[in-house]
Amino acid sequence: MIVEIIPCLSDNYSYVIREKETNTISIVDPSEFEACDKILNKYKKLDFILNTHHHIDHVGANLKLKKKYNSKILGSNSDKDRIPGIDIFLIENQKQKIGNLEFEVIFIPGHTKGHIAFFFRKEKIAFTGDTLFSLGCGRIFEGTYKEMFNSLNKIKNLPLETKIYCGHEYTKSNLNFCLAYDPENIHLREKEIDIQKKLDSNEPTIPSTLSDEIKTNIFLRCGDPDIKYNLGLKDSSEIEVFSKLRDLKDAF
Ligand code: ZN
Ligand code: FE
Repeated sequence: MIVEIIPCLSDNYSYVIREKETNTISIVDPSEFEACDKILNKYKKLDFILNTHHHIDHVGANLKLKKKYNSKILGSNSDKDRIPGIDIFLIENQKQKIGNLEFEVIFIPGHTKGHIAFFFRKEKIAFTGDTLFSLGCGRIFEGTYKEMFNSLNKIKNLPLETKIYCGHEYTKSNLNFCLAYDPENIHLREKEIDIQKKLDSNEPTIPSTLSDEIKTNIFLRCGDPDIKYNLGLKDSSEIEVFSKLRDLKDAF
């Protein structure tokens, strides 16, 4: 499985997945036709389009690509009326093949009601859309704090070596937020150097790994005593800490 990163719009990422044995080409969250097609032209085909959620910056190129390559579009069953051109309706925990690859559908509502992640267990790769970002999480547009919190915990339970491919390059501003409330975290300081290096050489900060995220992403660290203390929420539950952090980040 080879993952190719395609920067789209101002800060979106689409991902081309190549499976060589059966020459199956798929794309995750194609936002912009031209940028995606430039890469796909190399392969002259596109078998599958995978959408994490219905937002336009994740499905914008669905119909044009489907028309050009006769691709099949896969998305959440709960978004069947909102994902343009959808052919295959995915449900929670479903296993789905694309060529010789297999992914599991992880249902992670919160950012939207039908948000899903694609987890390739054998390859330990997850596409998390706008739910888990590197050092951050998505805004809660359609779901509840509780839903988003539970969704992040589902991702948190994947194998630690899992590579995280998310929907946006928000890492730098997420980093600044993490540093504001978790300044003593030594892993975060290390990550800061690594991120700056990548950004200075114009490289994506993606993928991250789940183990890195658990050590540095404040939204996955709601039980940490230092963070609770810094927020003045020493005796609060993790969900209360999470909700407070999400509110602070919305205004950051
Ligand atoms: Zn979105
Ligand atoms: Fe987005």
